[in-house]
Amino acid sequence: MNQEPLEKPLYINLHARLPYAYSAGRYVSRFLIALRDECKILATKCERCSIVLTPPRLVCNQCYGPMKEFVEVGPQGRLATFSVINFPFIDPFTGVERPVPYGYAIIQLDGCSNRFPHFLRETDLSRLRIGQRVQAVFKPDGERTGAVTDISHFEIIEP
Ligand SMILES: [Zn+2]
Repeated sequence: MNQEPLEKPLYINLHARLPYAYSAGRYVSRFLIALRDECKILATKCERCSIVLTPPRLVCNQCYGPMKEFVEVGPQGRLATFSVINFPFIDPFTGVERPVPYGYAIIQLDGCSNRFPHFLRETDLSRLRIGQRVQAVFKPDGERTGAVTDISHFEIIEP
């Protein structure tokens, strides 16, 4: 196939608007409502192997057993890993650029088997270490909307 190169690229100007409503489902809705109304982090516990997962799941990801029991986990835990972000990029939670620097961590919540990703207030790497105790800080009453960002961030509770 022999094609002449284009002298000028072809552009198509359009403005796409794609509104949609996503159902969180019965289990995650209960999780989000507990964050909003009670400042609690809920998980579900497997009837067979007792694993505890958050956000709540209907089926165990280890043994495929039913997970019908809701339990509260956290709000404290330990840093499993962390990072401090120093270059700006689009925050997937909000769709806008997040101010830098900010901390991001994977947290092992007390009473939970899996790990929970969220933001850290601390951005000084010399003050962070694996295994350090942290606690969820919720947004004030009236500002929570039923989203995982109802937890504003996690803060260090031990040096
Ligand atoms: Zn299980």
